[in-house]
Amino acid sequence: MNRVDTAAILEEIAAYDQRDITADTITHWHTTIGHLTKDVASEAVSIHHKTSSFRITPEQLLDITNHITTRQTSAPRPKQRAVLAAYQVNGAINDHCPNCDAQPGHTCTAATGEEAHSPCLARLVGKTTAA
Ligand SMILES: [Zn+2]
Repeated sequence: MNRVDTAAILEEIAAYDQRDITADTITHWHTTIGHLTKDVASEAVSIHHKTSSFRITPEQLLDITNHITTRQTSAPRPKQRAVLAAYQVNGAINDHCPNCDAQPGHTCTAATGEEAHSPCLARLVGKTTAA
């Protein structure tokens, strides 16, 4: 954002808490949040005022945008959804794996040391015989 964008964000904030906006205020905020896009900064202002009645600081705004960024990049990719579907078979994901020692809720580890695309057979069989 440029300073004009940052000033616009501050005006959004002032609509909530009636704060005074000076050139110093804009400089202070712009130093902290100037690298953000205006859309993200604006969304963070909105989120803050839905969840808090306190006056927002630039650091808090930055913290909220970190969550927004995390949320957008951590959305499951189709491949991950397919992997998790395999673990739903027989509810295997809910059980400890007797083969690779995966804890309930965690995926199995393949021989390569990476996340296995499907649960160990022992985990599936164990569930079947226990039921
Ligand atoms: Zn396993």
